[in-house]
Amino acid sequence: MAFDYDLFVIGGGSGGVRAARVAAQGGAKVALAEEDRYGGTCVIRGCVPKKLMVFASEYHAAMADAQSYGWTVHAGGFDWDAFKTKLHTELDRLEGVYRGILRNNGVESFDARARLVDPHTVELADGTRKSARHILIATGGRPVKPDLPGAEHAITSNDIFHLETLPKSILIIGGGYIACEFACILNGLGVQVTQFYRGAQILRGFDGEARGLVSDEMIQSGIDLHLGTNIEAMEPAEDGYRVTATNGTEAMYQQVMFATGRAPNTEDLGLEAAGVATGRKGEIVVDEYSQTGVPSVYAIGDVTDRVNLTPVAIREGMAFVETVFNGNPTPVDHDLIPTAIFTQPEMGTVGLSEEAARDQEPIDVYCTSFKPMQTAFAGRPDRVLMKLVVSRETRKVLGCHIVAPGAGEMIQLAGIAVKMGATKEDFDRTVAVHPTMSEELVTMKTPI
Ligand SMILES: Cc1cc2nc3c(=O)[nH]c(=O)nc-3n(C[C@H](O)[C@H](O)[C@H](O)COP(=O)(O)OP(=O)(O)OC[C@H]3O[C@@H](n4cnc5c(N)ncnc54)[C@H](O)[C@@H]3O)c2cc1C
Repeated sequence: MAFDYDLFVIGGGSGGVRAARVAAQGGAKVALAEEDRYGGTCVIRGCVPKKLMVFASEYHAAMADAQSYGWTVHAGGFDWDAFKTKLHTELDRLEGVYRGILRNNGVESFDARARLVDPHTVELADGTRKSARHILIATGGRPVKPDLPGAEHAITSNDIFHLETLPKSILIIGGGYIACEFACILNGLGVQVTQFYRGAQILRGFDGEARGLVSDEMIQSGIDLHLGTNIEAMEPAEDGYRVTATNGTEAMYQQVMFATGRAPNTEDLGLEAAGVATGRKGEIVVDEYSQTGVPSVYAIGDVTDRVNLTPVAIREGMAFVETVFNGNPTPVDHDLIPTAIFTQPEMGTVGLSEEAARDQEPIDVYCTSFKPMQTAFAGRPDRVLMKLVVSRETRKVLGCHIVAPGAGEMIQLAGIAVKMGATKEDFDRTVAVHPTMSEELVTMKTPI
């Protein structure tokens, strides 16, 4: 049977654009539909604008430190309008780059919503139908708000980059990495930040000691963090919202932001019609090759809710092309993925937390926490943490956890060693780089 395309990709985010480009470069006839902006979550409302806001938010403390180092500088005020204009100019530029990548590689793109009609047919918003030998769903996810009185007035991470003005105060609800990152960003920009998290500690799933330090440092830097607390209701009031917490207290905030979770974009995608199965959260169920139960339909990235990170969506996209178009079945390796949380201080982590490793086998833990030279000199009380979780039997480093400025950069490199199966003794025979914070990773002698 003749198809219009070899591949039709639904979604022009991190995973979809990569898969479309690589397949087209290999000679396949490829089309892609994007209903919103090219670049997807990462470029338009995730990693990129967030990291630029992290940078913006760090200058206040940096200027205070500069004074301690003898500089005559005064922070003045933060100009949200000036920053926002520059931010969106940059995002427009990046969207153009993504469109260019597709165009220059011969991918036909449609600025339209798309849905499945059957295992080989996609329908665009205007009713046009296109057939394809393979269909790749890369529609990502979206923030979801809980169903409680007044929630419609709250914003999510999608809205934060478009605020008319920065609020004087904000309540952020959630304890995941997005909630914590924005709490630190807005705190750094001078917003009075309160954070509610219903659990006992933020950053669930990460190493306990590392989460504890991030939480302490966030409180230390002025974030009013309430653990074991949730929101019950909110209502508009003069100049903000009146919020009732689960502990019965009431307070006013100028803005309320939910960072309480994300859902895969699978609604009204025609999955049922095509026979594609979804799981409990609405995620598309796939095997290790990202293939759904329908042989011609694959799915990658956040819509499959495996590991929801940009580099993972990209890997899954490339493995899909390798499997389907290059005749080289390639499963995606989701083991030992290094990752960073851009709180202040940052957390970089790879492998098992101490708690998870302890459940698995006998371990030794090497850990040190100290005041780093740069901020200690400036008179700041900040602490950092370097931690290795080591298998007692094989001596392999099962987990590496860093809480420190620049931890994201550090963990990328430590991640190579851990992925290669380095032992604690491999770390030990590596000479320290002095004076750095990360030299502690190769100088910790005694397990705790
Ligand atoms: C605030 C925030 C911060 C983040 N920070 C980081 C970070 O620091 N590091 C990191 O690795 N990851 C981060 N992430 C996660 C990262 O952005 C995602 O994992 C990644 O973008 C997933 O890529 P994807 O291709 O699966 O989907 P997306 O990038 O979400 O792309 C999906 C695209 O599909 C489009 N679409 C949806 N439905 C349809 C349809 N029916 N028809 C046509 N188009 C459709 C959407 O408009 C979207 O453009 C962050 C996410 C958020 C929200």
